[in-house]
Amino acid sequence: MEKKRITIAFDGFSSSGKSTMAKTLAKRIGYAYIDTGAMYRAVTLYCLENGLFEGTTLNEEELRRRMGDIAITFAVDADGRSVTMLNGRNVEQEIRQMPVSSKVSIVAAVPFVRHALVRQQQQMGAGGGIVMDGRDIGTVVFPHAEMKVYVNASAETRARRRYDELRAKGDTTVTYEDVYKNVCERDYIDTHREETPLRRADDAVELDNSNMSIDEQNRWLIDLYNSIVEKQ
Ligand code: C5P
Repeated sequence: MEKKRITIAFDGFSSSGKSTMAKTLAKRIGYAYIDTGAMYRAVTLYCLENGLFEGTTLNEEELRRRMGDIAITFAVDADGRSVTMLNGRNVEQEIRQMPVSSKVSIVAAVPFVRHALVRQQQQMGAGGGIVMDGRDIGTVVFPHAEMKVYVNASAETRARRRYDELRAKGDTTVTYEDVYKNVCERDYIDTHREETPLRRADDAVELDNSNMSIDEQNRWLIDLYNSIVEKQ
């Protein structure tokens, strides 16, 4: 019998490793993968490039007027990797840098931005067979997802991972302290914003991967996926 193509939601704090896990699982089971953080990051890059920030103050009225002009899509690059496109331009590199990281939680707290991106995410995942990762996937975007995983790890572990990742990509200016501060700031804003703060869905399975290897995490996930699909 054909296996049912379910909806899989990954939520959790920044740099918890959920994107890597979600991507690996999607590839293994032949599902599409959507990184919703990249969408909030792309809107943030648009704001930075178009002068909508004055310090940490966002010109929300101007952003509201321009929301219709911001098209975020995903494409596959020459190496077969999924990349984020902002109005047809590959912005995958820029959206991962600190200028965007330090402002993204401000943009992601704006209700009309969330509504627009959530609607787009629901359309992208409407047919099932999707793995989506973010902060509100199991609670807001797909509250009826068959599989929900809430990933956690200590702030130190997450900052260390993000720092190593940025250094590996050639960023020599960033310090561990900068990254740790950014992780803690984003944790605070993401859990305290008024509009759908990050929280674990009641029916999500929690995974603390602070002391797990990538292999262990992947095995744990595929076991969970198999046990859920068998029951469908
Ligand atoms: O996952 P990533 O760390 O790239 O997400 C960047 C930021 O986007 C988060 O810190 C959060 O503020 C926001 N975000 C969100 N809801 C999502 C995904 C990301 O608010 N579904």
